[in-house]
Amino acid sequence: MRPTGLLHLGNLHGALKNWVDLQNEGTYDCYYFVADWHALTSDYNHTDQIKEHTLNMVIDWLSVGLDPLKSTFFIQSSIKEHAELFVILSMITPLPWLERNPTYKEVKEELAEKDLSTFGFLGYPVLQAADIIMYKAYGVPVGVDQLPHIELTREIARRFNFLYREIFPIPEPLLTDVPKLLGIDGRKMSKSYDNSIYISDRDDTLKTKVGAMFTDPQRMRKKDPGRPELCNVFAYHQIYSASDDVDNISVECKRAGIGCTECKIRLADRISNAMKPIYERQDYYRNHLDEVRQIMEDGNNRATGIARKTMEEVRDAVKI
Ligand code: SF4
Repeated sequence: MRPTGLLHLGNLHGALKNWVDLQNEGTYDCYYFVADWHALTSDYNHTDQIKEHTLNMVIDWLSVGLDPLKSTFFIQSSIKEHAELFVILSMITPLPWLERNPTYKEVKEELAEKDLSTFGFLGYPVLQAADIIMYKAYGVPVGVDQLPHIELTREIARRFNFLYREIFPIPEPLLTDVPKLLGIDGRKMSKSYDNSIYISDRDDTLKTKVGAMFTDPQRMRKKDPGRPELCNVFAYHQIYSASDDVDNISVECKRAGIGCTECKIRLADRISNAMKPIYERQDYYRNHLDEVRQIMEDGNNRATGIARKTMEEVRDAVKI
């Protein structure tokens, strides 16, 4: 996960909850990392806050239930072996594989105000491949939009194994059906759209943001019947409210029995309740930063041990 800002509810439901489940299932030995070199691919000229975002990100991970005793978390730039493997993989990755990466063009267009005509941006899937295969990963938890990247990682790993020696397992995507939470303006939740509800938003901030959420556009007045299936607020209720509550809102919305203001007040309340344990852990870790730094250091050490072993095998295979 790239440390480009505060984590939002889209990150929580789209990735972090799944990470916690994978960790707690007991089937996997999980590695999660702060991809600070990847943050440079699009934000190479705004680096002032990367360290702060890194620390806040790890606090949020701990707060949502990632457990350093069960999973390894580390900071990408602390494991220099990633850069070495990236260089070696760069040598064997054909340029057309990168040029046909569908997200390359998409993101370039989406972030048209940034100059992304850089080698680093074109080559970031190679760095991703290095990040993944360094730990000989069998699976990578991703959303559907990330599938082309995993496919590219698989191709790069296969090419390495073919050219040198069978070192790397070919990783599989671990796809999960995650709810897609939209931003308060109904577009994809994104820091760049300024439409996010952050994991750290509380009280009045949370109420204000929920109060500003777009609803069914046809419901102009309280006496207009609503269409909950088209309403973003309702999508949130389906995650945060009990099922009989959700049913009740659906019925009352359709018969214009409940107004959007009341519906949003209830939602802010439900989110706030659900987030309470997360807020408590956030407070704890914000007041124990040394503990967080120690957790990061321990994770870095564990990851370094594995990365060093992998790189010994890689150098031996490449004869370098
Ligand atoms: S009452 Fe609730 S579900 Fe219905 S349109 Fe308003 S905010 Fe959406």
